[in-house]
This record gives sequence, C-alpha cells and structure tokens, in this order.
Amino acid sequence: MSNRNFDVAYNLTTNNKFLLNSYGDYCGCFKCCSVYLVSEIKSYTNDDSAICPYCGNDYVLPDILETRISKNFLKKLSAFWFGV
Ligand SMILES: [Zn+2]
Repeated sequence: MSNRNFDVAYNLTTNNKFLLNSYGDYCGCFKCCSVYLVSEIKSYTNDDSAICPYCGNDYVLPDILETRISKNFLKKLSAFWFGV
C-alpha cells in the first residue's frame, strides 16, 4: 500500500460519524489495532470523530479501504503514523 493511501486512511478518522454509519458494520482503530462493530462506538468528539471504545483515541477507521478491515492493515497504518 502506498503512502498516499495512508494519508487517505488518516483523513477518514476525522469527522467520520456519517461514514462509519453509512458503510460496513465493522471499523478499526489503528492506535490499539482493534477491529470491532461500529455499534460498539459510544462517543464522538466535538467534530464527530469516533472515539475508540477500547483505547479512548480518535483513530477509528471506517471499513472503506478494505472489504473487511484487518488487524494487519491497522498494524501497518500504526507503524506508519506512530513509528511503532
Ligand atoms: Zn483503539
């Protein structure tokens, strides 16, 4: 996957309430690399960015770039953005 797609992925974590509720049932957080149901999200930031129910960060990715978001994909994103 190219760096450009990582940028796209990052942009999808902001103001994503509508996207999350419009696409697949699943989403993933690339901070803690959890994959879970959109219905598990309980809170959003003031600009409608989903907050991860597992780690409390707003790095939740809608299921848009992959047919089913995978832990592997989240780990690659995490490595790219956080260098871990
Ligand atoms: Zn998380």
